[in-house]
Amino acid sequence: MTPFKFSIAENPSAAIGLLSKNDRAAFLAGGTNILDLMKEQVANPTEIVDLGRLKLSSIIASATGISLGALAKNTETANHPIIRKDYPLLSKAILAGASAQIRNMASNGGNLLQRTRCSYFYDIAMPCNKRNPGSGCAAMEGFNRMHAIFGWSDKCVAVYPSDMAIALSALNASVKVMQTSGTERIIPFGDFHVLPKDHPEKDNSLNFGELITSIDLPKNNFAGHSAYVKVRDRNSYAFALVSVAAGFELQGNNIANAQIAMGGVAHKPWRATKAEAFLKGKPATKAIFTKAAELEMSTAKPLSHNKFKIEMGKQTLINAFELALKG
Ligand SMILES: Cc1cc2nc3c(=O)[nH]c(=O)nc-3n(C[C@H](O)[C@H](O)[C@H](O)COP(=O)(O)OP(=O)(O)OC[C@H]3O[C@@H](n4cnc5c(N)ncnc54)[C@H](O)[C@@H]3O)c2cc1C
Ligand code: SF4
Repeated sequence: MTPFKFSIAENPSAAIGLLSKNDRAAFLAGGTNILDLMKEQVANPTEIVDLGRLKLSSIIASATGISLGALAKNTETANHPIIRKDYPLLSKAILAGASAQIRNMASNGGNLLQRTRCSYFYDIAMPCNKRNPGSGCAAMEGFNRMHAIFGWSDKCVAVYPSDMAIALSALNASVKVMQTSGTERIIPFGDFHVLPKDHPEKDNSLNFGELITSIDLPKNNFAGHSAYVKVRDRNSYAFALVSVAAGFELQGNNIANAQIAMGGVAHKPWRATKAEAFLKGKPATKAIFTKAAELEMSTAKPLSHNKFKIEMGKQTLINAFELALKG
């Protein structure tokens, strides 16, 4: 591990101030990702700015929705009574991730910013455009079973690993950020994570030094009909091969509104817009679910080792739709 200075921030402005003085500094929240990256020498910050004393751990409900503090823990968020009652999709997605011990440490802001689990990214002996821009992509011709089938580029085929973020995408969340100027900006969730294009070193639209202060969720009508389905190699400590977050608003047996996102298939949470548009106004039947899933998967572009994700994606979508219907 590269030696680093340890600084403690007392408030958000101080945290941003410390970071903007050193372009090789990094924030520390729960530490469950950044410390692993440092131990593997994938990340080599010369200064760590501890966010632990910032008062950003509240979860606050309002007339328009709920605000999740960036430093609230994943466990506390998943088990919060309002999240369990009004946003069960989010609770299920968080609880499908990692392990109880990791969720106890992991923060909401850190969860969004966790980096890809592409094994070549973690292996500093291998070329990787995300870790070392311009060095190449070992996964492109390598073992790319876990990798993307949507939205990849010839520079990077990695997938984004968070479960929580897939539910946040389906629920139309937004991310509140304090900029280095001290003013706030709000990033719609769909614009927060980015596709790799020519710059896979960039996972998201945050600028250096910006601090996530909260993740905000609007009210929704999905509480009775939502599902998170995660397909993985093991039942714990495994990232999604494919996952689906689905919320339905029903009118009788018809789907009035559907919000669906997929994980394990792209460099960012993949909003299943084709399936959403197809389902709207149609009866909630297996035949309609199957057509919607086929339509969504019809534009997938698999790599040499992950063609199975097309059928898996289709079946996971159908499964999630059926579970959401049951409630
Ligand atoms: C063995 C293992 C299994 C796992 N399995 C899963 C899984 O199945 N599903 C899943 O979704 N996740 C999984 N995870 C990942 C885990 O959820 C993340 O490591 C965790 O959510 C990161 O949160 P943290 O607070 O620890 O972040 P940290 O490691 O502290 O920080 C992560 C990044 O975010 C930055 N950061 C943190 N907070 C802020 C902020 N407020 N503003 C700006 N930047 C910030 C840090 O600088 C760092 O770059 C697993 C992790 C491990 C170790
Ligand atoms: S897929 Fe992305 S993260 Fe993996 S080796 Fe290629 S550039 Fe690196």
